[in-house]
Amino acid sequence: MVRSLAEGYPDAHCELDFRNPLELAVAVILSAQCTDKRVNEVTPALFARYRTAADYAGADRAELEELIRPTGFFRNKTNAIMALGAAIVDKHGGEVPRTLADLVALPGIGRKTANVILGNAYDVPGITVDTHFGRLVRRWGWTAETDPVKIEHAVGELVPRKEWTMLSHRVIFHGRRVCHSRKPACGACFLARDCPSFGVGPTDPAEAARLVRGPETAHLLALAGVPGSATTRGAAG
Ligand code: SF4
Repeated sequence: MVRSLAEGYPDAHCELDFRNPLELAVAVILSAQCTDKRVNEVTPALFARYRTAADYAGADRAELEELIRPTGFFRNKTNAIMALGAAIVDKHGGEVPRTLADLVALPGIGRKTANVILGNAYDVPGITVDTHFGRLVRRWGWTAETDPVKIEHAVGELVPRKEWTMLSHRVIFHGRRVCHSRKPACGACFLARDCPSFGVGPTDPAEAARLVRGPETAHLLALAGVPGSATTRGAAG
């Protein structure tokens, strides 16, 4: 399945836009209860206005709130971002720290966020257990755990460390595009052969194909061998 996921999503990546660890930390805080797309609409102006942790720490609250308002929960997020900026200045000389222990000690940074920062800004392998990741690995029988930390450890034992970050992206991509929470596209899923949960969603290929989302849809349907998709049309001549 790990190999199939790599075939399905060779270019999987963090879908938040950022240029440095601080921007990523802020973007992840903004992504709570909000789509990555919406966050990416807000961050160019935000990152142009605030460039350092000190900038966030000393921000004008009303101005910061206004900039991030479209992401929802903007008052809480403003508190979190200002506190984060202050802590990075006070405890780490303005640099986002590079270890899980130091990151999770920062306000607003949980284990999931810390792993996103380590994996994507610092190239330290990390498993990001979000709601998609947890749901999919349970569907695949990789673990029965529901606690994110236990899931992280269970999957960490199954998959080589160097693959953790890319695996996280790929699993999350599959959760967003194919293996949805309520109606997974089982009949159009390239993992169906290996998936013990095949059938929790529609198994009819045409019906399932309509549930697949995202820019890679044609590639994903072809991999799954859905009739009428690019590959099968090509094979038919
Ligand atoms: S077969 Fe269904 S449950 Fe299994 S990974 Fe695919 S979409 Fe998800």
